[in-house]
Amino acid sequence: MGAHIWGWWDCPYCGQKKIRGDNRYCTNCGIQIPPATKFYIDTENIQQVDESQKNDAANWICEYCDTQNPDAADVCKNCGSPRSDAKRNYFDMQKPQAEKVDPQKKTSPEKFRISNARLKKWGIFAAVFLMILWLCVPVTRSSEITGFTWERSIDIEEFRNVDESGWTLPEGANLHRTASEIRSYRQVLDHYETKERRVAEQVLDGYDTQYVDLGNGQFDTRQIPRYRTEYRTEYYQEPVYRDEPVYDTKYYYDIDKWVTVDTLSTVGADKSPEWAVPEKSVGDYDASAPRYGAQREGEHHENYYVIIKDKKGRDKKIEYSFEEWDDLSLGDKITYKTHRFGG
Ligand SMILES: [Zn+2]
Ligand SMILES: [Zn+2]
Repeated sequence: MGAHIWGWWDCPYCGQKKIRGDNRYCTNCGIQIPPATKFYIDTENIQQVDESQKNDAANWICEYCDTQNPDAADVCKNCGSPRSDAKRNYFDMQKPQAEKVDPQKKTSPEKFRISNARLKKWGIFAAVFLMILWLCVPVTRSSEITGFTWERSIDIEEFRNVDESGWTLPEGANLHRTASEIRSYRQVLDHYETKERRVAEQVLDGYDTQYVDLGNGQFDTRQIPRYRTEYRTEYYQEPVYRDEPVYDTKYYYDIDKWVTVDTLSTVGADKSPEWAVPEKSVGDYDASAPRYGAQREGEHHENYYVIIKDKKGRDKKIEYSFEEWDDLSLGDKITYKTHRFGG
């Protein structure tokens, strides 16, 4: 609570201006201060309230004769009615009539408008979401089989002696040499760099005086701090890293191993898949001690497809396992899952 200053009021009957707030009667015509009189401040004529007279409580209004009575009075100074009967104070008398309109009636149309806008927003959101869902969820379609295709291949491997290098030495390898080489890099702190940035700061610029009507002829004065934004340059340290190589032992060696040298492929558009037939020499070797140049069959690869016409009449390939594919016949109806867009 700050210092109190006197407020002023004007007499509505004789027109007397600036009657100090501690006067209950017009200093000119003597009429009692009317109940709805509003006190005001005069910054040209600031008069401090003595400490002994300071009062924070608003005047109360007599329920029977509308007299403004100070908080200290237990009975009306005009008619002697008890304060306990009073329902209004100074501030209740200041409220303009317009504000007494039923607040619910005033706010409900606005509330309705807000909820309507929200509904619209959520409606659009939900519609877009459902559309995306509709596009993404796979659909089941059925179609007749119009054809079959298949692909088979056999890797041909040859026993060879090859030069290799690596971070480990495999079993059976013939080591030539080792070398210390860069295997990876790690980041290490090299140094710090001083950098600058602008920072905003709120600095106290001064105080604004605010006057608060206490409703009893006095005003409380409050000092409201006022700030301004100031910018200053701040320096900070930023770490700078460098890549440091990590060395490891690399092995250079030769080794005897099976190496893929060829792939024999067969394709067909029927239901009679066949493997390619390798040359006679493939597989003709001593398994316990193969000679260089010996050949054998390596990995086998196989894919089986069914051809159908999609919704737009285009050929569509669907892959099956051999067992499933083998059981299917031309004209069989199959169901498949697809997306609404794309394939
Ligand atoms: Zn007067
Ligand atoms: Zn009274």
